[in-house]
Amino acid sequence: MITAEIIAVGTELLMGQIVNTNAQFLAERLTGLGISVLHQTVVGDNPQRLRSAAELALNRCDAVIFTGGLGPTDDDLTKETVAELFGAELALHQPSVEKMKEYTRGGWDRSMPRNNLKQAYLPKEGDGLIIPNGNGTAPGCIFEKDGKTAILLPGPPSEMKPMFLETVEPYLREKSGAAMCSRVLRIFGIGESAAALRIDDLIKGQTNPTIAPYAKEGEVTFRITAMAETAEEAEKLLGPTVERMYKEFGDHIYAEGDDATMAGTVVELLREKNKTLATAESCTGGMIGSAITDIPGASQVYGFGFITYANEAKEQILGVRRETLAAHGAVSPETAAEMAAGTRRVSGADIAVAVTGIAGPGGGTAEKPVGLVYVGVASEKGVRTVKLNLSGDRKRVRLRTVLSALDEVRRELV
Ligand code: ATP
Repeated sequence: MITAEIIAVGTELLMGQIVNTNAQFLAERLTGLGISVLHQTVVGDNPQRLRSAAELALNRCDAVIFTGGLGPTDDDLTKETVAELFGAELALHQPSVEKMKEYTRGGWDRSMPRNNLKQAYLPKEGDGLIIPNGNGTAPGCIFEKDGKTAILLPGPPSEMKPMFLETVEPYLREKSGAAMCSRVLRIFGIGESAAALRIDDLIKGQTNPTIAPYAKEGEVTFRITAMAETAEEAEKLLGPTVERMYKEFGDHIYAEGDDATMAGTVVELLREKNKTLATAESCTGGMIGSAITDIPGASQVYGFGFITYANEAKEQILGVRRETLAAHGAVSPETAAEMAAGTRRVSGADIAVAVTGIAGPGGGTAEKPVGLVYVGVASEKGVRTVKLNLSGDRKRVRLRTVLSALDEVRRELV
């Protein structure tokens, strides 16, 4: 198995002025490729320290991925430093010069700054490979020697990420000489540690396939990756682990795939089942509607979204009864149920979902604390409500409410 180290170069990173999101992206992608990331380093724009970090990394890992320090200024030294370590020569790469000229012509400053040329000094043919940069002026490069590889990418994530995906990933995949298959399972409604605990034996015993869990706001994702000589064999190796995950997590698995989202899954299911959805939102103020309309083609399944923040809105638009509000309050299962039923009636949609809750930080009581949210769902099956006790700040409570409401719609459809 290939081992790797990530070195993020930049004094800004050391001083905490920017967050090292590049390392996170790279670590995740490398792990997904079946490469074992053993270290992550951050080093400032200082030639001696950069050199010693690079030496150390190349001693202890097969591949070292650098980001940052490829720019035009004098303190951008990654390429020069690493080339020296590899005994590689840099030479002016004419196609890159032309591309840079082209690139800067489109900008507000029509002349190409002279020091931009520094970026076009790239490994001479035979001394390394060039990684084209479609979104900026600094190309990346790869040096190889004695079984060690250094991959140099620019700092800006908008340049680095596509370069990694388009050039570096296929390069590394080929290098590992193995066929790789992964499945990404997305889970909602179980916390990360609880989810990991359920498959503790799989995680502890993992070799091939590997299981990489990661948690995002409110959901957990497992990437299961297997390597073998052929893609079919790798796929076969994945089988038992994926099967076990489905057995363990059942319908908590809402989708598969890197780009899957809860809203996308719901829109797809609605389309598949030929159903329409309407929403009524109190504490989320339109965030559910926003998540749905983020999905292209949502108009086929979604036509009505009400923001009913005040009691009057709940009464006037959705027909929630004044007595219900007076007797149980706006945040109650009774109100959520009437909101959902009213939404379905007014919109004529097949399914209606409504949320009402206390997002905080104020407004909570002992009886109805911050984070208490009711979701109402109305469909031809009837009306049901779900009580949520969410933790965290206002933002988190609202985000989780959106996901939970969408998940309830999904459950209505499967
Ligand atoms: P440039 O061509 O822009 O000069 P560069 O390769 O020299 O690129 P740096 O100058 O080190 O890169 O960083 C440029 C910008 O990229 C930083 O200001 C920051 O916004 C972003 N950046 C750099 N490193 C990282 C990182 N590790 N994580 C996230 N963003 C980063």
